[in-house]
Amino acid sequence: MNKPLPNSIAAMDAAHQIHPHTNLRRHLETGPNELLVRGQGIQVFDETGKGYIEGAAALWCSSLGFGNERLAEVAKQAITDLGYYHNFRGSGTPQAAQLCSKLADIAPEGMDKVLLQSSGTEANDTALKLVWYYWDAMGEPKRRKIISRHEGYHGTGTLTSCLTGKTKFHEGYGLPFSDFHYVTMPYYYRKAEPGESEQQFSTRLAEEIEALILREGPETIAAFWAEPVLGSGGAITPPEGYFEKVQAVLDKYGVLFVVDEVICGFARTGEMWGSQTYNLKPDLICCAKALSAAVIPISAVIVGPRVFEGMMQQSDRRGSFTHGYTYSGHPVACAVAHEVLTIYEEMDLVTHVKSLEPTFLAGFKALEDHPLVGNIDGIGLIGALEIVADKDTRAMHDPALQIMPMLDRLTREHGLITRLIGNRIALAPPQIITQPEVEEMFARLKNALDNAVNNINA
Ligand code: PMP
Repeated sequence: MNKPLPNSIAAMDAAHQIHPHTNLRRHLETGPNELLVRGQGIQVFDETGKGYIEGAAALWCSSLGFGNERLAEVAKQAITDLGYYHNFRGSGTPQAAQLCSKLADIAPEGMDKVLLQSSGTEANDTALKLVWYYWDAMGEPKRRKIISRHEGYHGTGTLTSCLTGKTKFHEGYGLPFSDFHYVTMPYYYRKAEPGESEQQFSTRLAEEIEALILREGPETIAAFWAEPVLGSGGAITPPEGYFEKVQAVLDKYGVLFVVDEVICGFARTGEMWGSQTYNLKPDLICCAKALSAAVIPISAVIVGPRVFEGMMQQSDRRGSFTHGYTYSGHPVACAVAHEVLTIYEEMDLVTHVKSLEPTFLAGFKALEDHPLVGNIDGIGLIGALEIVADKDTRAMHDPALQIMPMLDRLTREHGLITRLIGNRIALAPPQIITQPEVEEMFARLKNALDNAVNNINA
């Protein structure tokens, strides 16, 4: 049962909390949409006791769902044992050592060095520093330029906002800095030319990257940055041949490949890493979110041998590796993340996700002919459908209709939370979801879509 909240909680929130990605003036007036007070399995419950299937695992992160007592016990023990110690100047804790070792065991082959951080943004920011550090060590300090994709998302810190290819995170902040370049997102449904096959589209996008490298000068290009499946860009899977062709261009010019697995890591795409699903050769991997099932902040950069060699050369030259935060390798977070990885082993996470993938994709397939749906896309346990006004022309609805807020309201009424991105509805449920729960999630989504059609026609 939910404990009743004093009414003043919503008022406190409205008066004092600045919410990310929220209209601040409206929030002052209306307060929070809902207050979530409890969770169990794949559901969260608001203060009235209403339950919702969290179809997006909150922010693509609550891989083990909500309200996990086993993880609470582990955190309690780690706080009781020590609570905190750092890992600076060679100090350590068993929790951090054990986590790094376990992460190295499941990392793609050949990648066995781990730099712990506390968020996806920190992991990407650190990876960027490592890229520059590496090229400096190699005697090529002019290699500063970074290529990422429009609509790619890599965080909202000062530099990570520059990696992020969404202009709304640049505007008003005087960003991006120079040295950040963006290429076309691999979004076949909207970005392909008429008649262009997926392979042709992929070739064109790889050629665009090569042309950019040649225009800027290969001796100035440091790294290419990508999520295996674009997450906040719309849950968009790459078209056939895309990464194979891109990887060939990167190899040709010796450009480092940083793979942002903050969403795709830990079997989201059906293999442990999106890099394995798409056969990528990362030099650095950033991971976070499902690393701790999101119950405590922790992230990691997994460093491949090429960059690690450069880091060692730098630390020899300068006496030490000069980077680190107070909370990098926090023992409580490490203990929890280690337990999460143990749970993944016990449940055989990859096999579990693979066994659910057909039901998950069939859920989208069954909605493909729905009058509101223009496109479906998905892999593993991440996917999206795109809402259109006209299936043939792919035209979107009149903004005055406010179709996406309407769908958000209707899905919530049916007890489902999804992730809305532009005119796409993304689903990425907790990886512990079961087959009947996947079916229930899609049933609720279909009911909401049908209600929306009725509303439009009314
Ligand atoms: N990279 C990706 C791919 C992400 O999806 C996110 C967060 N949604 C980040 C980086 C940033 O992570 P955080 O919010 O933990 O800083």
